[in-house]
Amino acid sequence: MDGAALTAALADLVGADHVADSPPLTDSTGRNVGRPLRVVRPADAAEVADVVRLCREARVPIAPVGARTAYWSPLALDGALAIDVGRLLSLTVEDGVVQAGAGWAVRPLDQALRQRGAHLPLHPDAFGKTQLGSMVATACTSGIGMGSGSLGSHLTGVEWVTGAGTRLWTGAADRPGVPPFLREGGPDLTGLVLGSEGGLGVITTVAFRQRPAPWRVRLPGRTADPRRCFPLGLALAGAYDTFRLQRSTRSGPGWAVDVWVVSAFSPREAAERAVEVARRLGEAGVTVGAPAAETAAARAGRSPDYDDRWNGPLDGLGDFLARASLRGVDVNAPWSAASPVLQTLEDLVAAQSNAGVSESRLAIYAAPDFVNLGCHATVAPGEGWSDADDDAAYAALLALPVVPYRVGRRWPRAAVESMGSRALLRALKLACDPDGLLAPGVGPWS
Ligand SMILES: Cc1cc2nc3c(=O)[nH]c(=O)nc-3n(C[C@H](O)[C@H](O)[C@H](O)COP(=O)(O)OP(=O)(O)OC[C@H]3O[C@@H](n4cnc5c(N)ncnc54)[C@H](O)[C@@H]3O)c2cc1C
Repeated sequence: MDGAALTAALADLVGADHVADSPPLTDSTGRNVGRPLRVVRPADAAEVADVVRLCREARVPIAPVGARTAYWSPLALDGALAIDVGRLLSLTVEDGVVQAGAGWAVRPLDQALRQRGAHLPLHPDAFGKTQLGSMVATACTSGIGMGSGSLGSHLTGVEWVTGAGTRLWTGAADRPGVPPFLREGGPDLTGLVLGSEGGLGVITTVAFRQRPAPWRVRLPGRTADPRRCFPLGLALAGAYDTFRLQRSTRSGPGWAVDVWVVSAFSPREAAERAVEVARRLGEAGVTVGAPAAETAAARAGRSPDYDDRWNGPLDGLGDFLARASLRGVDVNAPWSAASPVLQTLEDLVAAQSNAGVSESRLAIYAAPDFVNLGCHATVAPGEGWSDADDDAAYAALLALPVVPYRVGRRWPRAAVESMGSRALLRALKLACDPDGLLAPGVGPWS
């Protein structure tokens, strides 16, 4: 099928206004991720399935694409049809379950949920443009809210369209007419799409537990030695939703510590817990600043302190990317491996500084049962830091007991080869995407 015929066929399915030509695109790293054949924006899951079936007949590769902010190169758009689910914006809150279209950007979704007495418990530590479907496809286990559990623990089901064009629900909703009230409707198929990086299907609806917004108290602090805080990740389980340590080469020595203490019951309980958490942080060598209780406006999703949890205004991402591109290397690790991982990332920061990179940020996000550590450099135009310069860090990290946060195309082949479940993953790929059209070349599926 030539380009004109493809455009006409797509327009028949989704309307001409929702099929667009595209220039070559870049992601948040500034890398060229290719020129898609077309970008298509279906209105609902049925249209997504129609589009996937058309691609199957025409043997056109498919790349589900969100806000293009992932920095481990999961997207390869050259010659592929880019499917953007940004028009899938349904929202219901019923029976203790939130069901939201995969196209919601996470920040407006959180604000809409707060109007209904709920909230989005977890999201990337960014500006909030990430699409909900991408957050599932990348199995968000890094960022704000990790103390409340990883994304998978909040999910009760996912609707997706496989590469064969089949629409299915996982969880309890796997039985027609049953709502997605429980993740384990049978064998846990919801877990399959978590972290699938676009390789098994297109996520169209996400269901997760309705949780009231907690009362929060923010404890800011500084420390010279983040390692002394590591035991607190587990010891303070249940008391925090976010526990972040970060250091930037721009802001001098020492680490900023931010702990958001929570209570599901009352502001008073949150304040009482904050006193105890501050004491424990002090014992671990943190100089703790004045606690700040979240305001009513922040709980409603509108206030400067609410924006602060999203790094500023929603369109801050555009300003950020206009100044520099982001290079990131992240892993998830058990707490026992946190120190050697941190050492490796500190070595990477030193190498970047020596090469003249203007800012490198180390970030540690604590969860009770694991930790996410990453090095994020903002590389301004003209600064000399190439993909190959990260290779030594990748090799050193792979020798540690860690898992990459995410694989994309940046992690070396050895990361994929070392996965014990490779044979099963291949079988799964074949079952869900028999023609290999989805996200060709992405780590776990390549
Ligand atoms: C400043 C900054 C800070 C960041 N901080 C964090 C952080 O704290 N934690 C974190 O996890 N990430 C972080 N990121 C990376 C990124 O923002 C997130 O991983 C985000 O979830 C990617 O969302 P996206 O909509 O941009 O997806 P994209 O980058 O467009 O796509 C990511 C992957 O999801 C797949 N995908 C997208 N939509 C669908 C769909 N509907 N169905 C199936 N697959 C789909 C794509 O094929 C691709 O594999 C940060 C990025 C920036 C720029």
